Parts: sequence; structure tokens; C-alpha cells
Amino acid sequence: MQLARTGVKKLILIDPDQVSLTNLQRQALFNEEDVHKKHLKVLAAREHLHRINHEVEVQALPAPLSVELLTELNYDLVVDCLDNYQARDLINRMACQLGFTYVFGSCAGNFGNVMLIDPAKGPCLNDVFPNLEDLKATDCDLIGVTTPLIPLVASSQVSLALHYLVDPTSIAYDQLITIDSWGMDFTKFQIQKRPTCPVCTANQIVVEQTPSTQVRSLCGSNTYMLDLTTQLDLNELANWLVDRKIEVAKNPKFIRFTFNDNELSAFQSGRLLLYGAPNLDDAQNQFDRFLAVTSHILNR
Ligand SMILES: [Zn+2]
Repeated sequence: MQLARTGVKKLILIDPDQVSLTNLQRQALFNEEDVHKKHLKVLAAREHLHRINHEVEVQALPAPLSVELLTELNYDLVVDCLDNYQARDLINRMACQLGFTYVFGSCAGNFGNVMLIDPAKGPCLNDVFPNLEDLKATDCDLIGVTTPLIPLVASSQVSLALHYLVDPTSIAYDQLITIDSWGMDFTKFQIQKRPTCPVCTANQIVVEQTPSTQVRSLCGSNTYMLDLTTQLDLNELANWLVDRKIEVAKNPKFIRFTFNDNELSAFQSGRLLLYGAPNLDDAQNQFDRFLAVTSHILNR
């Protein structure tokens, strides 16, 4: 929202999720109408951002963050607005590999962290958190977050983003800023690059991206993901659905439709997302039912 107001020319939004009621406590861009309409977050965000500043180009990608997206897209800066360390590790490793700069930001309870990271100029995320592997393992151990912390962290990220975009030479790449919104404390720590860091000093950057061949939930949401082992022919699937009087919203890389009262997205890559299932078992059942009737298309 702040980046749109300041007139940043283009924003690319990546998020696979749809707006749910529990987001409204902290995600200031969304409202109850978005929840009722079961809006995808990036599409709802694009709508609201255009109402703030119609001149900003907003590219909305309702997909999980991936190596492919970070490699294919054109951007000057990445802003981490994530809720899990699995994806943060992916950004960090890709920043080492591709050489981009990003603004790290995280929130939990009343505590937030912010840092401008460019592994070529300073420490990487693994130098800040040498226990990154543990943080990844405890992914989705959800701690709540207080409402006023989010804009404090977001504003700090936007400050760094603007400073970087205007003058990348006069900004520090080794400062971790911690924010305590209860004790009202801002603290800065200087972080050293570790000469033995297995991530940013490695000759070969390893980016793990294991496909989700088992149904799993996306952090903190009722959205579930399943990766098929083959690519999908979206036209064929769309035609099959339309033949059964199912309405299909077509996008360049994915289609979205309702099947048995459940919202689904199918991606060319073979990824399926199911929205709004109450739990993992239910999501598994819904996927099974969908796969049973579409196996002649999906298994090709
Ligand atoms: Zn490092």
C-alpha cells in the first residue's frame, strides 16, 4: 500500500492464498467483502491498490513462490512479506545465486525483524540466523501477531526499500533492526558475514524445492497444495470442466474453478491448490474425488 502511494512504478505480487476472515485482524488492505467474495489475495490487493493509485502497474500472481518465478521475472528489489522460513530460505539462496537484493521482514507476537540483505555486499539470512534449518523445521508453528506490529515492520521495510531504490550506495547491508511493539523499542544490531557460512560462501548454491506430492496445507491458511508428477494441459482440463457446466476463470498460467463446492486452481506445472477446506483429511478427500474423475486428463 505504501509503495503504491509513493508511486513505485510496478509491483509484482506473489501469493497463492485467498482472503479469509482471520486475515482481517492484521492485513490492512483487505475487508469483509473480499472474504465473502472468496477473492484471491493478489487479485483483491490489485483492485485496492488501483483505487489508491491507478498509475501503478500491478502484476498479480496467485502462485506459491518458486525458483522459476524468481528466475523468470524482472525486478529491482524483492520484499519479503512471508510467514514462513521455508520460503525465506528460498529467497535467500536465490539472492545468493542470482545476485538480487531483498528486504527481509518477520513478525511474531510483539516482535519484528527487518533487514536489507544482499549476500554480495553483506551477510545473508543464514548469517543472521545460523539456526535457519531449525526455523524451517518449526514452520507453521503459528504464533499470533499483534495488529500494530505489522505496520511498524512494513513501514520499516518500505523505508529501506525506498532508500535502496533511490540510492543503493548510501545504505547499510549489515544492519538487523528489531522492533518490540509492546516495549516500544527499536534496536539495531550489526551482523557479521560468517566466512564459513554454508549458504553464501558456497561455490555452488543449493536450492531445494521439493514438490509437494503429498497434500499439505499452506502456512496459517485453509489452502491446500498438491503437485502432480506431470505437467497439465490446462486447455483440455478447462474444456472438460466447461462440458460439465463448470465455470472456468482462465489466466495465462493457471485456471480457477469450483468443483464439488470447493474452489480450486490448477497450474500448468501440475500444481493444484484447493481453498477453504476445514482440515487436511477433508482436503485429501476433495483432491481424491477430483483426481478420480479427471485421471484420464491429468495422468497424461
Ligand atoms: Zn551467509
